[in-house]
Parts: sequence; structure tokens; C-alpha cells
Amino acid sequence: MGRIACVSGRFACARVADVNEFTLGGVFLVGVFMLGAAVGSFLNVVIFRLPHKLSLVRPGSRCPSCETPIRVWHNVPIVSWLVLRGRCASCGVEISPRYPLVELVMALLSVGLFHGFSQGLLTTDVVQASTFFSDVVMPYALYLIFVAALVAVTFIDLDWFIIPDAISLPGIPLGICVAAVAGPAIGIDVWDALIGAAVGAGVIVTLILVYGWIRGREGMGGGDWKLLAMIGAWLGWQALPFVLLMSSLQGIVFVLLLGRNFAVDALPPEPGVEEMADEMADEMADAETSEVAEGVGQLAIPFGPFLSLAAIELLYFGPEIDDLLARLLEFGP
Ligand SMILES: [Zn+2]
Repeated sequence: MGRIACVSGRFACARVADVNEFTLGGVFLVGVFMLGAAVGSFLNVVIFRLPHKLSLVRPGSRCPSCETPIRVWHNVPIVSWLVLRGRCASCGVEISPRYPLVELVMALLSVGLFHGFSQGLLTTDVVQASTFFSDVVMPYALYLIFVAALVAVTFIDLDWFIIPDAISLPGIPLGICVAAVAGPAIGIDVWDALIGAAVGAGVIVTLILVYGWIRGREGMGGGDWKLLAMIGAWLGWQALPFVLLMSSLQGIVFVLLLGRNFAVDALPPEPGVEEMADEMADEMADAETSEVAEGVGQLAIPFGPFLSLAAIELLYFGPEIDDLLARLLEFGP
């Protein structure tokens, strides 16, 4: 097709080349969108099962209400929820829009990540270049694991006020290994990652100790330092000031806007409590409420989502953020 069109002159040739590059770029972007959506579908399972310490692979996906196994063609990310209009195909119970939302968010983050590493240059030349794998495909695939972990942490922390060690702890050595092979793609090396993990852990442990010493209670959840250590491992120590500052700022804005919904007496029960006898659950809830009642007026918000958000902002908009900061400093005092 292309060759025939080329006969008609130089202009048409250029047009055809554009179309080919456009098509190639489109194929890649559709591919990474679908991969991201599939990862999001898996994250829904992780978010639902990990806090209950259930297996992530067995049994297969089933309706949370009637427990009917979900057929493959009813389990297509995003699409199935839309086709079934948000209802279970067998019992008709409403399925939360959060499922397709997680899939869509992960799909878009996947596209953004790939676009970032390929610099939008999805031309035939770039794809054929020997560096395409090492500079684009590999960093994309590895940092997609990091982004997926942050998305899972965000929703689990929102639901349960916990950051599972099963994600944050293996994430630390994994991040250091990834920095060793793919770090240069985001401008860090393995030493930045090692220092980042150590400082990330140290900063939050210090904050927890200082806050506990001043206020006589824990200010941050015990999982936050492991998450910041993980972020430091994947993004290097250079990321920590921005991540700490932006997560705090965005957390404060969020509390000011929606704070009432996160009053301490609204803390969710421990995962698994709902499976106990009702009386026991009530007793535990009472005990928990009276324990935190001393701190009425204080807010408990999960910090994990804000740390994750800031880390994603830096990973996706690092150069833009650097430019902005440089410009702000120019006009500063
Ligand atoms: Zn059902």
C-alpha cells in the first residue's frame, strides 16, 4: 500500500510515512492501555483479598455476593462492567464502579508511563533502534510494577488504614534492583536507591518518634515508613523532599475539604473482624472507639494514598516539576 501511494509524489510519501508512524505509535499505546487495564483487574483482586490474607490466585474471580465464578467474557477489564451495566451477570447485585475505575486508572497510568519513557517518539527509527528495549520497554515494564504497587497501597490504605508489609517490604529490595538496571532512565543509580531506601525509612521513623514524644501518641501509621523506604528505593533519595512535602500539602488540602469523613471514630475495623461473631465485632469496635475517643477532634487520615500520589506525580512529571521549581526559585527571594 505504502509503496503504491509513494508513486504519486513526495507529499503523499511524507503523508504515508506519518500514517505509518502514527499507526505504530497507536498500536503501542493501545497495547500498553490493555496491559494496564489487565494489571488493574489483577489489582482489584489484590485490593480485595490481600488485607484478608487470602490467596491471590485461587479461587478465580467470583461475584462478591452470590460467589458465582465470573466467566472469562464477563471479566474483561472496564468493558464487562459497562456491558453488564455494573451488575453481576448471575444474581444482578450491583458491582462497585471502583472495579472499572481501578482498571481505567491503571490503564491510563500505563499509557502515561510508556509515553514518558518513549518521549512520545514512537517512530519506526526509534522502535528499530537498539536502545528501544533498554531505554523504553524495560524501564516501562519495571516501573509499571512500582506504579501498580502504589495503586494497590492507595486503595488498601483507604479501606483499612493499613499498608500491607507484603507489598512495601519486598518493594524495597526490588526497587534497588530495578534502579540498578533501569534507574538511569529516570536519572538515578543504585546508590541513589540505597540511600533513598535508608533515608526514607529513617525520616518517617524519626517523625513518628518525635511526634509520639511531643503528643504522646502515634502520629503516623506504622506502615508509612516502609512505604517511604520503598519510594526512596524506586525513585532515589532525590525524590524524598518532594514526596514528603507534596504528600503533606495534598493531605492537608484533602482534610480541609473532606476531613469530616475521616474523623477518628470512623476508623474501619481490622480486616477479618466482620467475619467474627457480631457480638465480638461490636465489643472490639467499642474498645477501639473508647481508646481513640481521648483524641476527639483529631483526624485520622491514611497517609499512604498521599505518599503514593506524590511519588506518581514525581515519576510522571519529574522534568516539568524541576522546571517549575527552578522558575519559582528565580523569582524567589
Ligand atoms: Zn452475583
